[in-house]
Amino acid sequence: MKSDYQGIWVFAEQENGKLHPTVLELLAKSKELQKHNGEKITAVLLGADVSALADTLFSYGADAVLLCENEALRSYSARPYQKALTQLSEKYRPSIILYGATPLGRDLAPRVMVSLDTGLTADAIDLGFDEDGVFYQTTPGYGGKILAHIVILERRPQMATVHAQICSPIEPIADASGELIVEKLNIEPDGDYEVLETRSAEKSGESLAEAKVVVAGGRGVKTEEDLAMLRELADLLGGQLASSRPLVDNGMLPHDRQIGQSGATVSPDLMLNIAISGSVQYQLGMQKAKCIVAINQSEDAPIYDIAHIGAVTDYKKLVPALIAKIKARKQ
Ligand SMILES: Cc1cc2nc3c(=O)[nH]c(=O)nc-3n(C[C@H](O)[C@H](O)[C@H](O)COP(=O)(O)OP(=O)(O)OC[C@H]3O[C@@H](n4cnc5c(N)ncnc54)[C@H](O)[C@@H]3O)c2cc1C
Repeated sequence: MKSDYQGIWVFAEQENGKLHPTVLELLAKSKELQKHNGEKITAVLLGADVSALADTLFSYGADAVLLCENEALRSYSARPYQKALTQLSEKYRPSIILYGATPLGRDLAPRVMVSLDTGLTADAIDLGFDEDGVFYQTTPGYGGKILAHIVILERRPQMATVHAQICSPIEPIADASGELIVEKLNIEPDGDYEVLETRSAEKSGESLAEAKVVVAGGRGVKTEEDLAMLRELADLLGGQLASSRPLVDNGMLPHDRQIGQSGATVSPDLMLNIAISGSVQYQLGMQKAKCIVAINQSEDAPIYDIAHIGAVTDYKKLVPALIAKIKARKQ
């Protein structure tokens, strides 16, 4: 029975005892949902030696923390995490489970979906309740041509992976407390493989997420010389070089430079978009930038719908002029 399922769960993704930033955003979004359905918000914290994170989760809006510590959950491993979350969900029957649309969330959520035989929306950019009180998740569909409102009418829990930065965390509540539920689960490490070592991927520059200035190039950037020009502009502005997906697909830049739905989410003070059309998937990663500048030779490019400043021209003419001007000012 659907009415047997109650409560909003946020999967409290952590790595080495550090919460992923999307967890705090999901808690804030859950607070908005709670205004509508009045249901308890529970952060589900899996790991080993992670209990200290419970206070942070309370201060950012969790009413309860469901803590399951187990050596098999110390580092993320798909099947032990899947089993733990499945067992907890079968026992407590939440109505909604939200995961960050992170690499881990995107790996775990579909597995739990299969175990619980329920529905999952990938990469939701909005969540809410319609006029009939039905919980919906909005996600771009058909290559971004439509925004689909997805409802999971029969199955429970209703699950979604949620795009980063759709909501800002609430101001932390000082001395917040809540209900701490400790669960001991009998979870074994995955017998089929053993994690011997975890190494961070080498980054090709500073994290894009924290950059104050981002210069991004798109499919119109065809050669290494063109790219070097954008890199020079980024350096002169004290910013980071980034791109839309085509430059990553064709190997000109590594994936950690890609902005968008399947890349990084940025919110710099200044965001230059050079020879980028501005697809829905790209905009999802940069629409929170404070000042959006577009250089595109086509005046119909969708990037102009959100740009604060635009130049309808060939960037190969404008960017060298910008570089010369900045250099002259710096002398
Ligand atoms: C599930 C899914 C996830 C996706 N995730 C992402 C993602 O994370 N990030 C992402 O970027 N895309 C993503 N995409 C792809 C996305 O749909 C677009 O295909 C992509 O963003 C297009 O990149 P672009 O704007 O560089 O290229 P195009 O759309 O081809 O645009 C190139 C632009 O350059 C302009 N131009 C060309 N030459 C010049 C010049 N000399 N001077 C000035 N302007 C010039 C053109 O007018 C054109 O507007 C995803 C797609 C799907 C289906």
